[in-house]
Amino acid sequence: MDAPTTGEWAAWWRTPLPARIYNALVVVVAAGVTLAAPFLARPGIGCTGAMLALIAGGVAVVELGRLAEGGRIDRQRIHKGLSAWPLAAALLIPAGLAGWVAAAVYVHAWARGIRITRWKWIGSWGIVTLSAFAAAGMFRVVNGYEILQSSGSATRFAAVLAAMATFLVTESAGFFIASRVNDAADEQYLQAQLASPSFYIVEGAVLGSGAVCAVLYGYWPGFLLLGGPALMLMQRGLLHQPLQHEARHDSKTGVLNCEAWRATASSALGHARRQEQLVAVALVDIDHFKAVNDVFGHLAGDDVLARTADAIVGCVRSTDLVGRFGGDEFCALLFCAGHDDALATAERIRRRIAQLSFIDPRLAISASVGLATAPVAEAGVGGVLDLAELMAAADRALYRAKHDGRNRVDGTDVRRRPAPLSAS
Ligand code: GH3
Ligand code: MG
Repeated sequence: MDAPTTGEWAAWWRTPLPARIYNALVVVVAAGVTLAAPFLARPGIGCTGAMLALIAGGVAVVELGRLAEGGRIDRQRIHKGLSAWPLAAALLIPAGLAGWVAAAVYVHAWARGIRITRWKWIGSWGIVTLSAFAAAGMFRVVNGYEILQSSGSATRFAAVLAAMATFLVTESAGFFIASRVNDAADEQYLQAQLASPSFYIVEGAVLGSGAVCAVLYGYWPGFLLLGGPALMLMQRGLLHQPLQHEARHDSKTGVLNCEAWRATASSALGHARRQEQLVAVALVDIDHFKAVNDVFGHLAGDDVLARTADAIVGCVRSTDLVGRFGGDEFCALLFCAGHDDALATAERIRRRIAQLSFIDPRLAISASVGLATAPVAEAGVGGVLDLAELMAAADRALYRAKHDGRNRVDGTDVRRRPAPLSAS
């Protein structure tokens, strides 16, 4: 059978083989345990009631989230708050049944607008389900009993904490492997999230909410309703990060917007130390971009902007900062070993942009780059230069590059030598 080239599953066939094998393995194991669970656990009325209550809780929180966000929940976000329910299930009902709770909550969230590549979404279900199995196992080891009792004790408290920690570790490891076996570019967002402490703090809070729901339900099922307002607040809290991301990034190209770039670049300059010998500002402006819009249309123009931004990001180090200055102009703050190093990076950016190819084979672009370099000793901590001076110098260099024929790099050194001491 030929692989489809468009549609939801085309992305699956384009994904590297190790990522597909890993994803399939996780899903097959999770599905196997989940499908076998009802036959092994033979859930009674109490257990079925708990499952339905947790699924209803998960559905209600997604619906509350839609209300809180004005009907859309499709923003790129790492925390969806869904793991709370499989964790609660791991504490309240026989282990394998958590997979059913996770499946119901995941299917509902998908149907209500969470949009992620479908195979990744199914893989996430698999990882979360396996994390719930691991958490259930840990809970039973520490607690000594099958499920959470309606009264507390230090041992039960420790068992709940251990289950949460096990869930978090398994889940993070599962997503970490998923991000490593796939294309690096595809998984940059996930890798960045997994490298930040805030991921673990927020996901820990989500799991804590799940544990509170399990404790409330174990106390008396009706008390689960009291968790509603807290979960609604949690859902709103989870919005903070994607909104903050949106506020700082340019929506067409994904790089920092002008204000965020200026603020972050100023602060990076303020903290620059002498290990980095040189700091550089590169201004990159697409040549005759107006003609691209005029001949190929604004959508093609937008595609050119996005591909140019990707090309610049691909040419600099992860510690450098790339932003969209506005229109067809991009800015980059580079930390380099020396002047030649900065010039080579600027030249690499220019060449990479000139080599871009587009769907319409007639479309080709070039860009001019204005570069201003200064020693970190002068531009960094306690230095005499500021970002505005570097940018003004890069702008003048860009003007010269345009004036000299475009598709070229013009570099300038903004070293400010100490004024000679006057004789007195
Ligand atoms: P030069 O070589 O001198 O840089 O010429 P240019 O045509 O690139 O420069 P100019 O500043 O005249 O044109 C920039 C164009 O960028 C004009 C504007 O319509 C277009 N533009 C600005 N923002 C966007 C955008 O978000 N999308 C698209 N498609 N076009 C944009
Ligand atoms: Mg231009």
